[in-house]
Amino acid sequence: MVNSAQVLTVSSSNPCIPSTPIISSEMRSLRDPRSNALDDPKVIASLPRYVDVVKGNRLAKFVIARGFQVDFDDASTSDLWSLHARSLEGYLKYDEALNAGEIELDTPDSSFLDLKVELGKRIMESCHLCARRCGVDRSSDETGYCRCSDDFAYSSCFTHLGEEPELVPSGTIFTCGCTIRCIHCQNWQISQWREAGDAMTPEGMAKIVEVLRRHGCWNINMVGGDPTPNAWLWLRTMHGVTKSIATVWNSNSYYSTETAQLLAGFIDLYLLDFKYGNNRCAEEISDAPGYWEECTRNHLMAKRYGELLIRVLVLPSHNECCTGPIINWIAENLGPMTRVNLMFQYRPEWRAGEREELRRRLTRAEIQEALDMARDAGLVNLVRG
Ligand code: SF4
Repeated sequence: MVNSAQVLTVSSSNPCIPSTPIISSEMRSLRDPRSNALDDPKVIASLPRYVDVVKGNRLAKFVIARGFQVDFDDASTSDLWSLHARSLEGYLKYDEALNAGEIELDTPDSSFLDLKVELGKRIMESCHLCARRCGVDRSSDETGYCRCSDDFAYSSCFTHLGEEPELVPSGTIFTCGCTIRCIHCQNWQISQWREAGDAMTPEGMAKIVEVLRRHGCWNINMVGGDPTPNAWLWLRTMHGVTKSIATVWNSNSYYSTETAQLLAGFIDLYLLDFKYGNNRCAEEISDAPGYWEECTRNHLMAKRYGELLIRVLVLPSHNECCTGPIINWIAENLGPMTRVNLMFQYRPEWRAGEREELRRRLTRAEIQEALDMARDAGLVNLVRG
């Protein structure tokens, strides 16, 4: 989900292509002081590859996946998943050889990215892109819990200056629909379809990506709602993007293990929410059964195949049950240098009034307690810490 702050919505009569300047002159002047974020030793220590991609020293993963040859035919889905697992190992070696200058980027007829697109298409036919695993056929007009179709429901895009410093300027793209229902959602108008969005094809979205890149954005920030229902569409979108730009997967972490596999070798930076420290809170507040298992598995996968920036939105009266267990798990399983944004901007939104503890903002004591928890757990790479 988005880190709400300074935003400029791009207005466009044609939803396919932003028609107005995405970065105003005022925003350009705001951007420069943050550019040294890429030289911050803590950012480099935790996100070295992402920094190299933004600086133009390495290619984004989607470009490499598109250049890595993988031949396949109309095989069974299980056979294609086996091929995907083998290809992922080959892809990692290919990436290393490219980075070492030992080989040049290829332009094969059939690529690792093509294989991902094919597997994404098959997932859509019995949708299990997210952990909810509705099983609906989204290729034939059926919709599941998220109500997403087989095209994007585009809401807006803009150059986001309020994200973490290493992301700014971030080419942020909002789409409608979400896989969970946080009763305090800040973006409930788009996550819960109060706004319908504009139907958008991957080809149209690729044009938006190109425009954002040309305007100087460091990355493409795939948001929602949640990007998970659109994972197949994002694979196809980036297939059509001609030049390298870092990809950012900005998600609630409630996606299936199959989607996690598709993202491996595609996403440069995983910008993952870690929302709850137990399944009871996840179910009661966000209607996300089994959240802890899905979320922790996806964080481990993100660290293994990409780089990770974790957002922890601290909720009132949830330090003991959520903030503490989350922080301790991160420190123990991902390491003390994990880049973590402890977020204290919670405010009651949408249906937050349904729960008494969510009707207020954080107290100073709660903020300090969360910071103490992070320090005691040994986390040493907090954003703005
Ligand atoms: S992405 Fe949507 S349709 Fe697919 S499993 Fe999740 S909620 Fe259901």
